[in-house]
Amino acid sequence: MVGMALGMAVLLLIGLVVVMWIERPKRATSVVLVVLDTVRADHCSAYGYERPTTPHLTGLAAEGLLFEQARAVSPWTLPSHASLFTGLLPSQHGCHWEHRWLLDRFDTLAERLAAAKRETFGVTTNANASALWNLAQGFTTFLETWTLRDRHRGLADSGIANAEIDAWLARRDERQPFFLFVNYADAHLPYAPPPPYDRQFGEAGPGARRLAANGNLLQDVLAGKEQVDDADRAGLAALYDGEVRAADARLGELLALLDRHDVADDTLLIVTSDHGEMLGEGGEVDHQLSLNEALLRVPLVVRYPGRVRPARIPEPVALTAIKPWIDEIADQRLPDWSPSPDRTPPALVAQRYVPVDLVDHVIAHGRDATLLARRLSVAWRPAEAGGAWRLERDSVAGERLLHLAADGSTTAPPTGADAMRAMLSLALDEAEAAAPFVEAAGDFAPADTSDARALAQARATGYVAAVADGAVGLHASEHWLAARRATARRDFARADAEFAAAAMLAPGIATILLERAQAADAAAHPDAIGAIERFLQAVGSGSPAPATGVEWAVRRRDELRAERGH
Ligand SMILES: [Zn+2]
Repeated sequence: MVGMALGMAVLLLIGLVVVMWIERPKRATSVVLVVLDTVRADHCSAYGYERPTTPHLTGLAAEGLLFEQARAVSPWTLPSHASLFTGLLPSQHGCHWEHRWLLDRFDTLAERLAAAKRETFGVTTNANASALWNLAQGFTTFLETWTLRDRHRGLADSGIANAEIDAWLARRDERQPFFLFVNYADAHLPYAPPPPYDRQFGEAGPGARRLAANGNLLQDVLAGKEQVDDADRAGLAALYDGEVRAADARLGELLALLDRHDVADDTLLIVTSDHGEMLGEGGEVDHQLSLNEALLRVPLVVRYPGRVRPARIPEPVALTAIKPWIDEIADQRLPDWSPSPDRTPPALVAQRYVPVDLVDHVIAHGRDATLLARRLSVAWRPAEAGGAWRLERDSVAGERLLHLAADGSTTAPPTGADAMRAMLSLALDEAEAAAPFVEAAGDFAPADTSDARALAQARATGYVAAVADGAVGLHASEHWLAARRATARRDFARADAEFAAAAMLAPGIATILLERAQAADAAAHPDAIGAIERFLQAVGSGSPAPATGVEWAVRRRDELRAERGH
């Protein structure tokens, strides 16, 4: 029953998607990727926020696709950009706090598009999204605005970015398609919106202004030097919203530049954010510390003039989906924005690794670092009755399944949610398949790591092999879901095939192998005994399974052996 309800929910979701290509691209498309750093979706007017923070994003959404449920896969800049550029989860690309380096071996957006004859130009206002950590792979030109302040006196960094984009668009070869990446970090702490945005959303009191001006607010809150009370929260939000408006204004300038240089029509434009921001909720500020929805739900708008019809897309999508879209564009094909009816949207996964420097900082101030010194991951799926399921895995507190109502409130899961729990748990297992690297990576030097050295160390820690393993495990949960749907409609042969695919992609997980064995048995598959034995082997290796399942397997194996004269 649960399987059937899930299947129906999935069909309902897909039924709402109305994306359609009007025509295939006739010539090589240019691509513009804009990251409005630190912008949470629920503070964008394009996403229904009551303050008019994002008029330009709203205008873009009216001309293209707005993804209502887009999720970052990491709560801070470096791993989130590494995921955006590679399409991989942090546990797969290994570029996060303890290992601040994106290895050369990964194929990035810029490398893919450069190989497809695009001129590649990147400009960033955020050092955590920069060449410092090898994120500039594949860019012919990659500019960091803080190094250009002398050349552009009087301009804010995001203004410098636009001035450089303007100059580049003027001098580039118009016949060549291009890839432009820009990161506008206006909404990042400190919040100091320029007029008129500094007062557009209300007056912040002196307390809030002091907190907002503090670029080390996170460190100071963690050290107990600052705290955020209710009055400060409203002021912080007013200033943050002013910065979101300022970032949106930079987006508006960029749109005007694309028009002025006559490239907007041939260009696929993607606007998103790398993560959201905590504005004092639960005492939390900045980002990085948790996997709160406010940090993961980000805007995502795609415009492709004349090629996609405007639509709001309710189907959830992770930012790791952008790389496959770009791969399609590079191959002159159409991204799969209109999923086929039998494709199941996978659970979205986000990961946060221990921020070791912050933990040290907290301990140095004599404070309890327990809450920080945890690895966190969550898997998220929309629920059939509205809202969403969220499985949280905390390396200290264990696993917790929550139901999120549409208003963001959480409730304990109703009975009968075990299948959802198991499915989301599997998604997290798969995502973490490459995680041993993280545990072994303590000896990585953060800053001056040359790639050769990083690779040598990665080989020494077994990381390269682990990544290769993890990269194939991505879609086991999709096969598992398909198998459960097939079981619900008593199509055991199909269920057996789907379970077999899931078991191959996520090997050794007893719960999958049990269902696979039961489906094989029901389908009278010639290898049903083998399937049962593989389940019992996984149990023997320590993979947990229900005792009733083990009893069934032993009894059924012996019956089948007797029937077949073994
Ligand atoms: Zn960021």
